[in-house]
Amino acid sequence: MRLPAVAGRARVAGAACLVMWSAVTVGSAADPDAKTNQPTGPPAFSSLSAPRVDDDAPPLERVIKSKAEWRKVLTRRQFNVTRMKDTEKAFSGKYLHHKRQGVFHCVCCGWELFDARTKYESNTGWPAFTQPFDGQRVLFQPDTSGGQMRTEVLCARCDAHLGHVFGDGPKPTGLRYCINSAALRFVDAAGQEAD
Ligand SMILES: [Zn+2]
Repeated sequence: MRLPAVAGRARVAGAACLVMWSAVTVGSAADPDAKTNQPTGPPAFSSLSAPRVDDDAPPLERVIKSKAEWRKVLTRRQFNVTRMKDTEKAFSGKYLHHKRQGVFHCVCCGWELFDARTKYESNTGWPAFTQPFDGQRVLFQPDTSGGQMRTEVLCARCDAHLGHVFGDGPKPTGLRYCINSAALRFVDAAGQEAD
């Protein structure tokens, strides 16, 4: 069966990132200072860009709004994190110690992003997950802001900035999706939104 258009797009995005990261990595090798600022290197994109694609999944409906439109429907903190790539203060997010079963949705477009069963205590100050809800939920792109090499994680449906992914997570993926609480909205197993 032919893959949905969005699946192809996501794969292309992943491949593009792989190329970009290669360039970034080579550049940083000659800069020892930059390297010491990065205790944990970004995970190889080959481990991130091979999403499981469900042939029967419906085409992804993208959610596109202007910054002015997002500002109307988000709180200031949610807007700054998701649309301006801000990072909430460590240990300040409401889902940091959240342990209920359910699904974390994108605060912007409502898409399911992370199953609570993949959440774990990373002791870093932000909610951490080992993997997204499935392989089509997030996109990755290199982020060299702040003199660091990191891999940014975005909602694949609305491009909301969610956080970053690092290669120091537990099994089974070895990845740590470090996600801002402000980018998420939790819905419990009964379908009720809850803090
Ligand atoms: Zn979204």
